[in-house]
Amino acid sequence: MQTAFVGLGSNLGRPVSQVRDALHELDALQGTRLMHRSSLYRSAPLGPVRQPDYINAVAMLETRLAPYALLDRLQAIEQDHGRVRGTRWGPRTLDLDLLLFGDRRIASERLRVPHPEIARRPFVLFPLNEIAPDLTLPGIGPLASLLRDLPGDGLRRLPEDDNE
Ligand code: ATP
Ligand code: MG
Ligand code: MG
Repeated sequence: MQTAFVGLGSNLGRPVSQVRDALHELDALQGTRLMHRSSLYRSAPLGPVRQPDYINAVAMLETRLAPYALLDRLQAIEQDHGRVRGTRWGPRTLDLDLLLFGDRRIASERLRVPHPEIARRPFVLFPLNEIAPDLTLPGIGPLASLLRDLPGDGLRRLPEDDNE
């Protein structure tokens, strides 16, 4: 069994439901259990494309799947949610990024772990800190020191009602 962290994001088609449903779908994957999930957060979009705010969360999984097999399943869930590959960083119904896979470091075209942008993204690091505050990111360093230098503006935890 390995511990894997997945970042979830959605800004189209009732994003809160997309993310909630995806959390259940992660738990239902073969050889995989959802151990912890963060609250839901709202974040301002990155990059040049004008688009709605995102809803984000991070999930901690225990899985028997190998990293590429897990990536295949994540992409299948994105497809089930009607994700259309359009503009890079454009709006999407569901994005599932494999953030960390145990202490593995993987650097192929199809899969980079830890996720290359992880250290720069408040909408990943703040939710991650909720469920795994003692984590050290392989090849990067302790989560706590990354958070010290990271502004949390543009990110808001959703109210309790949305987090049930
Ligand atoms: P970003 O990765 O910067 O958040 P994105 O999530 O919008 O951007 P996608 O369109 O979801 O990017 O994925 C583009 C490609 O990234 C996919 O084809 C996938 O094979 C590859 N990829 C590389 N590393 C990872 C990873 N750790 N998790 C998910 N996809 C990855
Ligand atoms: Mg992404
Ligand atoms: Mg992605």
